[in-house]
Amino acid sequence: MNKIIGIAASEGISIGKAFYVQSEHIDVPKKKISFEDISREIYRLEEALIETRKEIGSLQRQIDEKLGYDHAKIFEAHMLVLEDRLLIEDIINQIKNKRINVEYAFSQSVKKYIDILQKLDDAYLKERAYDIEDVAKRVLRKMLNLDMQTLEHVKEKVIIVAHDLSPSETASLPKANILGFVTDVGGRTAHTAIIARNLGIPAVVGTKSATEHIQSGDTLIVDGAEGIVYINPSQKTIKEYQARIKAEGKQALKIHIPKTLKSQTKDKKRLIVSVNIELPEELPMVDEYKAEGVGLYRTEYLFLGKKDLPNEEEQYKAYSQVARKIKPHSVIIRTIDIGGDKFLSKPDLPREMTPFLGWRAIRFCLANPHIFKQQLRAILRASYGTNIKIMFPMISGVEEVREAKNILEECKKELKKEGKKFDDKISVGVMIEVPSAALTAHILAKECDFFSIGTNDLIQYSLAIDRADEKVAHLYAPAHPAVLQLIKGVIDAAHANDIWVGMCGEMAGEALFAVLLVGFGIDELSMPPRSIPRIKEIISKIRYSDAKKIADECFQYGTAKEMEAFLQERVQNILKDDLSKYL
Ligand code: PEP
Ligand code: MG
Repeated sequence: MNKIIGIAASEGISIGKAFYVQSEHIDVPKKKISFEDISREIYRLEEALIETRKEIGSLQRQIDEKLGYDHAKIFEAHMLVLEDRLLIEDIINQIKNKRINVEYAFSQSVKKYIDILQKLDDAYLKERAYDIEDVAKRVLRKMLNLDMQTLEHVKEKVIIVAHDLSPSETASLPKANILGFVTDVGGRTAHTAIIARNLGIPAVVGTKSATEHIQSGDTLIVDGAEGIVYINPSQKTIKEYQARIKAEGKQALKIHIPKTLKSQTKDKKRLIVSVNIELPEELPMVDEYKAEGVGLYRTEYLFLGKKDLPNEEEQYKAYSQVARKIKPHSVIIRTIDIGGDKFLSKPDLPREMTPFLGWRAIRFCLANPHIFKQQLRAILRASYGTNIKIMFPMISGVEEVREAKNILEECKKELKKEGKKFDDKISVGVMIEVPSAALTAHILAKECDFFSIGTNDLIQYSLAIDRADEKVAHLYAPAHPAVLQLIKGVIDAAHANDIWVGMCGEMAGEALFAVLLVGFGIDELSMPPRSIPRIKEIISKIRYSDAKKIADECFQYGTAKEMEAFLQERVQNILKDDLSKYL
């Protein structure tokens, strides 16, 4: 097979060598073994321990040479774990007594040790739990024959190929070395695809079989607009794609980066066009693409992939840095939205059957007020002298807003007592991304200062389609009449209660929908940086009165396909311009 098809997740074309990345998460199979297999499993344990000692020894020598003994010393703790007689005996006893395979026995014994160490009050011993975890992963990879290649060994720019990449893994990859992403699983609005788009890295996700057909070192062409990946293509195909890269470069130049921040229609209807950010790498793009502020700052990325949660001070610095850079425009800081497809390494919570419906976002924060308060205090402190707004994610009803606001008030009182300054009039908004919130928007509007519609989730929850599941990705339809009814209802409810309403879901950055949303009367559209030029340009070429007519007529269509065809035809008529350059 030299071509595989997946979901077009981030536009652009890249040509380069494949680099296969093994997911950080290791699935350890449990197998029953017979009496005769016991000695073989014990031998496999010894072999894996010896191999890992050699590997760490060589790593230690390299670091000693490059950085000195002080840095190399950290591996001594790893070596001690590998020589720990009690641990080794415990594993052997499990193999013998429970008749289970070595990998499973090993992971169970290690887990026991880690649990004990993590419960201790001693910070030094707690820290050792991480050493054990690191070493255990190395040993398990040896036992399970998993490739231990890491990107640090790669000198050239590569295309990452993985079965699945968690948002935390994607966020921690060295972006400067990455030409593209290809994964077996995932959908267009899963967070890995969102990061690729925000960083402008071409990506094809949900291919189902990329890792089966691609080896590290294969030459790939990733066509992120069409969702196609070519494996070891012919010279002819490479040349064709090189020509397309050139042509698209010229086409991109035709859409000029806007000169001004302000965005308005021909008949002077003003809109805020702002940007979604997650990582520090994205901050320069706010200026570059002329965004009028940050409409969504996904703060959970500050927490992902860290051994310890960032404390109040670290968070305060991060939020201040962003807010000062964006000032006088506003930054909407969304409180952490973990759960769903984003997990913290600490606390390492048990995986849920349906994580998107589980302990996610505001639900997690209200159940963990110490984590929530730390973040709210940091945001409040950073709001002094800047323009920060707070936003709560995954609100499903008014009780949650009240509870979250009570905690915010407690934080304000504490800070006042401590003499720490903050913006006492800070705006508080909620994301409308759960159907129950959309349907009760008229009630929620009385409790907050603004709404931001999160269509990535609103579509997932109202159409019952897992946004990260490639098997149902074809059913994920922003133009479904049910979705559009909900959006229109939210906008009307906000305006009836004199609050403003924006959208920060990916739909806001898609040209045809942007026109429809202008017609619905939306006040703000927040999107990936690279979508800004074309959305600003299309807004400047339409009249609000025309967009409103489209909005009034759209509900006569029963299916998403009919709705899209209608939008395409009407917007084309208004623009009298080549619509394809905006899509
Ligand atoms: C959304 O759900 O539309 C949204 C913007 O939030 P996230 O993609 O982070 O869930
Ligand atoms: Mg969301």
